[in-house]
Amino acid sequence: MLNVVIFGAPGSGKGTQSDLIVKKYGLVHLSTGDLLRAEIEKGTKTGKLANELISKGSFVPDDVIIEILNKNIDLYPTAKGFIFDGFPRTVVQSEALDSMLKKRNIKVNVMLNIDVKTDELVKRLLIRGKTSGRSDDNLETIQKRIRIYEEKTLPVMQFYDRQGKHNRIKGDGTMDEVFAEICTAIDKTKA
Ligand code: AMP
Repeated sequence: MLNVVIFGAPGSGKGTQSDLIVKKYGLVHLSTGDLLRAEIEKGTKTGKLANELISKGSFVPDDVIIEILNKNIDLYPTAKGFIFDGFPRTVVQSEALDSMLKKRNIKVNVMLNIDVKTDELVKRLLIRGKTSGRSDDNLETIQKRIRIYEEKTLPVMQFYDRQGKHNRIKGDGTMDEVFAEICTAIDKTKA
């Protein structure tokens, strides 16, 4: 079983790289952002709460997101592994993920931290905003999301650093260059 945490600021390319990882390693992609957007589409109670928070650029409470993820892991009993995208975003979530996986006798094998400079993130998200239809891809919300990410990031990075699982990936290259670095980091854990 190979479980990957893909980590990086909004606009760092987590979604794109996750798709490539899924294709090459056959993992199940669990993106908490996508799961929340699906709840919004369905108009559930969680979706209504998420809608408000996401459009403000704020985080959804830890307990809500942990419950969603827990339920979704159970939907794939035969998975070869998971790629967790956009989760964990806080230390509480990192600890919850560890215990969720421990209960199932599995663990996070590798954490990939896609590092992109702030100016480049803003540029990419503004371009994405022209076509994504996402309520949070506008300048004010983008800046807030990056600020919140920076505030919460360091402790999550340190959490995986202490476990020897943190890999910094240079995220400003081409899609193929970034993916090559990702594959090296993943393959190292399997060696
Ligand atoms: P993303 O698609 O990963 O950029 O997520 C979009 C938005 O969903 C974020 O800006 C948060 O408002 C919310 N969200 C996604 N994942 C989480 C999480 N793990 N914890 C809290 N909020 C989240």
